[in-house]
Amino acid sequence: MSTLEIRDLHVTVDEADGSVKEILRGVDLTIRSGEVHAVMGPNGSGKSTLAYSIAGHPKYTVTGGTVTLDGEDVLAMSVDERARAGMFLAMQYPVEVPGVTVSNFLRTAKTAIDGEAPKLRTWVKDVKQAMDDLKMDSSFAERNVNEHFSGGEKKRHEILQMELLKPKIAILDETDSGLDVDALKIVSEGVNRSLSTANPGVLLITHYTRILRYIKPDFVHVFVNGRVAEQGGPELADALEESGYDRFLAPA
Ligand code: ADP
Ligand code: MG
Ligand code: MG
Repeated sequence: MSTLEIRDLHVTVDEADGSVKEILRGVDLTIRSGEVHAVMGPNGSGKSTLAYSIAGHPKYTVTGGTVTLDGEDVLAMSVDERARAGMFLAMQYPVEVPGVTVSNFLRTAKTAIDGEAPKLRTWVKDVKQAMDDLKMDSSFAERNVNEHFSGGEKKRHEILQMELLKPKIAILDETDSGLDVDALKIVSEGVNRSLSTANPGVLLITHYTRILRYIKPDFVHVFVNGRVAEQGGPELADALEESGYDRFLAPA
C-alpha cells in the first residue's frame, strides 16, 4: 500500500522574457494504491505542469508545498531516485534516444528500478506478452526509442513501460490524445491490466471525458487556473461531459 501526497504545491516557470509566472497555486491531492484519480481541466490550466513538477522537470520551480511518497520527500529526489522509489512518469523520457532500442531501454529501466537485472527467460516472455496484449508488432522492440514513433506508438510505448515496470504510482498525461477509438481501447485495457496486476495509484490527466468510459476513475478533480476547483466521484465526469468547463471559468 502506497500513498502519494501533494500538499499546497506552488510552482513557477521562467518565461522567455525573463519574468516568473506562477502556474500551480496550491494543489492538494492524495493518491493511494489501486485508486484512479482523473485530473480534468481546460487547456492551459496547469495539468501538465503538475505532472512535470512531480516528475522533477528542471524547467519548473517548486516555490511552496510538499510532495511525499509514503512519507519520503519526493521533491528532494533526483529524477532517477523518483523512478526507483516507484513513481512512473510517462513523460520522463519523451525524447529520442539514439541507438537505444525499445528492448534495451525497457531492460535497462527495469534493472535500474529493481536494483538487479530481470531473469532473462521470464523477462523476454513478459515483454512479448505485454506487447501482444497492446497489439504491438514484435519488430517494435528493435526500433530506437521514440525515433519516428507515431502519436499512437508513443502512447503504447508508455503503457508498455507501465505494465513492465510495475510502478507504485503512475502519472499519465493525455494518454488519450490523438488516439482513435480502437487504439484508445487497447491502451485503456493496458492501464486496466496494470491496475489489476500491480495495483498502482494512477493520476490520469485528461482534457476529455472519452477515456473515462474505458478507465473508471474513483475520483475526479476539476483543475482550473492552477488548482483543484472541485472534486467528486465519477458522476463529476458525467456532469463535465454535459456542461463542459464553462461554469468553472465564468467570471465571479
Ligand atoms: P495544461 O496541461 O492544463 O494544458 P500546462 O501545464 O501545459 O497546462 O500550462 C499551464 C500554463 O503554464 C500555460 O499558460 C502555459 O503557457 C504555461 N507554461 C507551461 N509550461 C511552461 C514553460 N515551460 N514555460 C513557460 N510557460 C509555461
Ligand atoms: Mg496544454
Ligand atoms: Mg497538458
